[in-house]
Amino acid sequence: MSTLLLTDDLFLAHDPGEGHPETPDRLRSILHELESLPEGARWGTARDATKPQVARAHTLAHVEALERLAGRHAELDPDTMMSPGSYAAALRAAGAGVTLVDALLKREAASGFALVRPPGHHAERDRAMGFCLFNNVGIAAEHARASGVERVAIVDWDVHHGNGTQHLFEDRADVLFLSTHRFPFYPGTGAATEKGVGPGAGFTVNVPLPAAMGDGDYGAFFRDLVSPVLAAYRPGLVLVSAGFDPYVGDPLGGMRVSEEGFAAMALTLKQVAAESGAPLGLLLEGGYDLGGLGRSVRRCVEVLAGGTAQTRTDASPRGADAIAQVRAAQIGHWRL
Ligand SMILES: [Zn+2]
Repeated sequence: MSTLLLTDDLFLAHDPGEGHPETPDRLRSILHELESLPEGARWGTARDATKPQVARAHTLAHVEALERLAGRHAELDPDTMMSPGSYAAALRAAGAGVTLVDALLKREAASGFALVRPPGHHAERDRAMGFCLFNNVGIAAEHARASGVERVAIVDWDVHHGNGTQHLFEDRADVLFLSTHRFPFYPGTGAATEKGVGPGAGFTVNVPLPAAMGDGDYGAFFRDLVSPVLAAYRPGLVLVSAGFDPYVGDPLGGMRVSEEGFAAMALTLKQVAAESGAPLGLLLEGGYDLGGLGRSVRRCVEVLAGGTAQTRTDASPRGADAIAQVRAAQIGHWRL
């Protein structure tokens, strides 16, 4: 089975402004790397999300507030801007996630990657935040639930904590949220003690990290924490908030992951998803080193299309400490 790639020219028309790190050039760098596709990868066409699909994860007031700003410039928070093309881009970005879920559930592809802008994981139910307008992965997860998938797992490897996604699902057991992120760091949430509430207790798994974690650390996090949680949860679909700001050269992230490190993370998720019989869908979040972003996405696409990757699991002492802290926090929830 092939891997399905979705993108759209509309995503290039979302422009937060001169000097903003979340620039259309990010997607141009990715598209340049994907001018020729590896065997087993193919392009598909993304649809818009419908307003009811978006409103599964957002208040109608938020959806309509952004709709009223279509065609205009607006500053939603000090980091989060709209340009005249932003609303159309946001609706298509959310729709790319929905389109990807539909294709995966119909088994038209075993995996896929929605190469979208704007990103989504900071967007809260009722507001835009941190470069994000709609929570693309949250909308995709809700669409999968509405389509009959009993358990959806979201893995968020962006260097920032996916506060918006956690808040959407923290009181539920049907959508697991597992995040690796630098901590303390923007946006401030994501402590190991945040583990879900009420019926969602245990179904939020946070892996807070010190700076400068590299390929061996992330390989160990995925082997020791991410894989066993996913294997025990047995999701019907694995979605990934795939941010590439843990990249070694990223101007915002402060981590040391290489192109090969991301490929290894994608390979691990592909294997653990396959063990559950679950398709795997990646959605682009951050990543601000233009060259590193494009090359890292290319390596992940190669892995999704059937290629391999060099997996290192030699954690540094600080990485091993981070694993021990998560194990302690998760006693009673997961055998790690
Ligand atoms: Zn990020």
